[in-house]
Amino acid sequence: MKNLVLLGATGSIGTQTLEVAEEAGYRLLAMAVGSRIDAFEEQLRRFRPAFAAVYDEKAAADLKVRIADLPIKVLSGMDGLCTLAALPKADLVLNAVVGMVGLLPTMAAIGAGHDVALANKETLVAGGAFVMDAVRKNGVRLLPVDSEHSAVFQCLQGKPEKGRVRRLILTASGGPFFGYTKEKLETVTPQMALKHPNWSMGAKITVDSASMMNKGLEIIEARWLFDMPEDRIDVVVHRESVVHSLVEYDDGAVLAQLGEPDMRVPIQYALTYPDRLPSPVKRLSLADWGRLTFFAPDDAAFPAMQVCREALRRGGAYPAAVNAVNERAVALFLAGKLPFSRIPALAEETLAKTLPTPSSVEDILEIDRCMRSEVTK
Ligand code: NDP
Ligand code: MG
Repeated sequence: MKNLVLLGATGSIGTQTLEVAEEAGYRLLAMAVGSRIDAFEEQLRRFRPAFAAVYDEKAAADLKVRIADLPIKVLSGMDGLCTLAALPKADLVLNAVVGMVGLLPTMAAIGAGHDVALANKETLVAGGAFVMDAVRKNGVRLLPVDSEHSAVFQCLQGKPEKGRVRRLILTASGGPFFGYTKEKLETVTPQMALKHPNWSMGAKITVDSASMMNKGLEIIEARWLFDMPEDRIDVVVHRESVVHSLVEYDDGAVLAQLGEPDMRVPIQYALTYPDRLPSPVKRLSLADWGRLTFFAPDDAAFPAMQVCREALRRGGAYPAAVNAVNERAVALFLAGKLPFSRIPALAEETLAKTLPTPSSVEDILEIDRCMRSEVTK
């Protein structure tokens, strides 16, 4: 069996990864979370990894006491996460933490020569140039877990070496506010935003899906994963989330990857690539669906995607700035302290700033800290 390091074990992706891992031939070498040790303790008793890490120092100390009967080494803080990510025995690191906190662990894993399965899209958005540079230098694989990117990755298997892809087409569910006008969006609450029609996910990405910021972040993610310029990454709204994304080749052929919406498929593909193994997921019946629908995105009501496109065109620190402001704005919105419509507005305001060009991951982290602290309302 191969050794898996799982960062973000208690989250939506984390728990589904635990479901898939055993089938895919992995044993858990190490697991990490942020602060919720009740759920984590249960997982540790079940999966018995050799190492565990909790970002929050106090929670880590509490956990040590609670699991004193188990032979598990408990680490804490960013150092703990990075140590786990770089464990020499790891065969794959799956990074499913939410937000920028995932950047240094991803870099640590790559630096240690490990393949990384990446769900943590924020860090590719913010530090894509540095992450991809490290991937090339260390000769490792960065395997997408995000469903759209996994779909593109699957449609690219077997492609000829050079210049045959014309366009990537990412699908977007449109989220819970599909069809809403700008005016109607003024009145939405966190509770309404947290009800995603097709996927059950963590709170942050669910709000991102409602604002379409998620699709903007995914355009940037695709730019780095597939080395594709912004103007060759299209988005189509597809309410059913059955077509997970598409690739158009030069000859006009368009390949798509389809399936019932279930994250266990992209997670498993990242774990077993290039193999495919059986899975218990519901099988797709197109006749049962009857019809699938597609729409152009409504950029007037949902400006976040265009803000991300502009940040990507400008390059440098702009994607990191938009991501930082979005993370902070989403937290404020969820706390009832910011109206929904301010999320894309605050992100757009970053485009008016003059930002220094980052030359290292440390610069990206500094820009992130600085932009976050500027968001107050
Ligand atoms: P969740 O909020 O459900 O889970 C987040 C996980 O990260 C939890 O285990 C949490 O631990 C951990 N975490 C939070 N803060 C820290 C920290 N400071 N240090 C270490 N661990 C931390 O999120 P999701 O699983 O939904 O999403 C995870 C990532 O995957 C995101 O980047 C998201 O965009 C991406 N993604 C998710 C999809 C989905 O279907 N859910 C689909 C595609 C991408 P704790 O429980 O202790 O807080
Ligand atoms: Mg996605």
